[in-house]
Amino acid sequence: MRINLRGLVLALTVFSAIAATANALYASYRVQRDQLIANTLEANRVYAAKLAESAGGFLKAAQQQLAYSARHIADQMEAPELLTAEVMRVQQQTDHFNSVGVVRADGIILATSLNFRNFLGTRVDSPGSRGALQARQPLISKPYMSIAGNLLINVSHPIFSNEGRYQGYIAGTIYLRNESALQDLLGKHHYNDGSYLFVVDGDGRLIYHVDAARVGELVNSNPVVAAVIEGKAGAQRVVNTKGVDMLAGYAAEPISGWGMIAQRPAEVTLEPIHDLIWALIGYAAPLAIAFLLAIWWCARMISLPLSQLATNVEHQDVAVAMQRVQSVKAWYFEAERLKRAVIWSFTSLQEKIGKLNLASITDPLTGLRNRRGTQDAVDHLQASGTPFAVVALDIDHFKRVNDTFGHTKGDEVIQDMAQLMRDCSRPSDILCRNGGEEFLILLPGVGAKEAANVAERLRKHMAERQLKGVGGITVSAGVAQWPSSGPDVGQAFQAADAALYEAKQQGRNRVVTHAA
Ligand code: GH3
Ligand code: MG
Ligand code: MG
Repeated sequence: MRINLRGLVLALTVFSAIAATANALYASYRVQRDQLIANTLEANRVYAAKLAESAGGFLKAAQQQLAYSARHIADQMEAPELLTAEVMRVQQQTDHFNSVGVVRADGIILATSLNFRNFLGTRVDSPGSRGALQARQPLISKPYMSIAGNLLINVSHPIFSNEGRYQGYIAGTIYLRNESALQDLLGKHHYNDGSYLFVVDGDGRLIYHVDAARVGELVNSNPVVAAVIEGKAGAQRVVNTKGVDMLAGYAAEPISGWGMIAQRPAEVTLEPIHDLIWALIGYAAPLAIAFLLAIWWCARMISLPLSQLATNVEHQDVAVAMQRVQSVKAWYFEAERLKRAVIWSFTSLQEKIGKLNLASITDPLTGLRNRRGTQDAVDHLQASGTPFAVVALDIDHFKRVNDTFGHTKGDEVIQDMAQLMRDCSRPSDILCRNGGEEFLILLPGVGAKEAANVAERLRKHMAERQLKGVGGITVSAGVAQWPSSGPDVGQAFQAADAALYEAKQQGRNRVVTHAA
């Protein structure tokens, strides 16, 4: 089955409406999404930069505190109780450090703020200590595991005597997994919108993360981490080491070489737009349904004249079909054209049928009715109960005309006879050529006597004229009347034939009326 016009219009309109709406929605989605991503990236970039600045400030303050102490204790290296007092003061004065200690140039611990003092007098050989002793300058160590089992970083400052001799260093530790001032600093900027922060050291190892268990993990395969440990700052969309699509801002802290990365999952960022799109669809739906109904109605109105034309054309009777087609309301141009084309083809069909009908009941030589046409007329008269007279005519000695002058001349005589019949009759009379040189005149509503007069007039005219190249021609006629010759119309024709035979018998060129 083929799709109908209504379905076609409906499908086309719905398709274009959906396509246009989807396109508009998608464009607006893209614009808003790009805007949101750009805003988030910018916010995170600023956030990371601010934190780098705060961390820098914190480290600077911590280093200054140690520098001050280092100068202060440079001449007290031999007085353990003074050193202890100093480390306790540094530890308690600010909350920069989780512990503070003084280590001599040979690595021996001289003082510590830690509770368990049995470290005193032992040699410390941690990576932080070795680094500090080697560098002999202010240093922030890489994260390492302390003897006490804490993951920490060591902030140290060298101690030089007044004469400039290296004495050792004073250092503060910052715990990375436990509570610390640095953690407080970073943790207090916690966003509630799904953004979070992590900090890496110069090697790309986590030194701060909201998930404390991940601290110490190496994440330098993350492209943002790779950028920040090169000292770069900026923002970019990145898939992190866990495979999550992130919008990250980053900034490096120059004193420590640390990198601050503030990031937010793209999915979390984009969630509001998805809600927005659904809300838009929700608002648009009722109107869209109303539109659909309107379109459905329009499609129906468009297809209606065509389907009506198609249905009405199918009627068997051309006249009825034409009348029905005429009544179709073709309200738009193409339907009107189609309607006119159908009516035109009907009209020409009717004309052709009419011509064919006429041809089928007409004798081609004379233009009079043939036998079939005669039969039609008789049926009609009989059906309507119209009485009529019958005149049967036959040209006398016609064979001789043919034999003497040829068949063509004979035809001319037949045509001449037909013309004479026309001249002597009224329009209501029915003129027929019954075959050969035999003719019939039916006179509706006419009695036998009057018909005999018509026949006599015709006979007389024929007898009086001289046909060119043939000479005189005569004709004989028999007259009868229906229903006076009998109730059956056939009887009237037989009676007329009998009367004609009688006329021939009586010597031709005469009219005989059947005695009813
Ligand atoms: P009658 O006076 O007894 O009627 O004599 P007739 O010669 O007319 O005799 P009949 O009616 O038997 O002959 C009719 C002739 O008409 C026979 C046929 O050759 C000729 N004829 C029949 N139809 C046509 C026609 O269409 N054209 C011509 N030229 N001749 C025809
Ligand atoms: Mg004859
Ligand atoms: Mg004859």
